Amino acid sequence: KAKDEGKGNYQFYSQEMTQKAMKRISMQSKLRNAIKNEVFDVYFQPQINAQTKEIIGLEALVRWIDENGNMIYPDEFIPFAEETGMIVELDRIVMKKALAQVMQWRNENIFTGSLSLNLAMKQLQKDDFELSISNLISSSKCPPEKIELEITESGLMQKPEESIAKLNRLKELGIKISIDDFGTGYSSLSYIKKLPISKIKIDKSFVVELPDNKDDISIVKAIIALASSLGLKTLAEGVETAQQLEFMLENGCHNIQGYYFAKPMSIEDTTRFLKNFHK
Ligand code: C2E
Ligand code: MG
Ligand code: MG
Ligand code: MG
Repeated sequence: KAKDEGKGNYQFYSQEMTQKAMKRISMQSKLRNAIKNEVFDVYFQPQINAQTKEIIGLEALVRWIDENGNMIYPDEFIPFAEETGMIVELDRIVMKKALAQVMQWRNENIFTGSLSLNLAMKQLQKDDFELSISNLISSSKCPPEKIELEITESGLMQKPEESIAKLNRLKELGIKISIDDFGTGYSSLSYIKKLPISKIKIDKSFVVELPDNKDDISIVKAIIALASSLGLKTLAEGVETAQQLEFMLENGCHNIQGYYFAKPMSIEDTTRFLKNFHK
């Protein structure tokens, strides 16, 4: 009897596992196809100077339109793309498209700020990381000083010594590096000092409950103070309200990104935004 029950359990689990495995396989082949056909769209979200209200940069954020025309957001496929290593090819596509678009805006004199690109930590760990990035940038003709690479805290802390060496070589070309989602990972302050970074992006989880949450007030103030004493710029993510903007201004945060100014937008909407923002 016990044997029968055991067998039943086994079948139950194995069916569930088969379903999970099937889902993964289907996701994997869909993603592989999407990469092969480069069906990704690049959306752009403006980054604004808190004081002058100038548009200083645009962050490129990938969007995947599936075969039914539905938009799939990065949180649904970036982790999977990272696990399977497909992220390297995906980021290449996004970088190429974003660079081409920003060059068009530059040539039309619509935008002269910087382009922020998200890089997966898998990317940073590759041996040819610096070479492939610098090749992409130089073939786009975009000035390297106008490129900012956003790397998450956990990505940077994976193999910090190696990251420092690689990122230093990019810095020599003029490329800027920022820490994304700061405060959500574990980082050693001694490495922050050694990393060739120029900006800290305060994670939106610390911004969402401002100006009411006492803990978040302390955390954000502390991050700004740390950055400022290390000579780094700060950018607050996820600023949605006028009070949050006011808080950042009062506390000396340099740059703002969030729905208060604009959501990530398609190329057409970004063009319109860039043309009309100051008027
Ligand atoms: P991230 O780099 O921290 O990007 C900021 C995310 O916050 C974006 O989500 C953006 O839409 C969202 N956001 C911006 N302002 C606000 C706001 O005011 N309120 C709220 N609630 N959210 C706001 P998104 O586009 O869904 O991207 C999620 C994450 O996926 C990104 O976080 C980034 O880590 C990753 N990602 C996106 N595109 C790429 C890519 O091309 N390559 C890689 N490797 N990762 C990417
Ligand atoms: Mg980012
Ligand atoms: Mg972020
Ligand atoms: Mg994030």
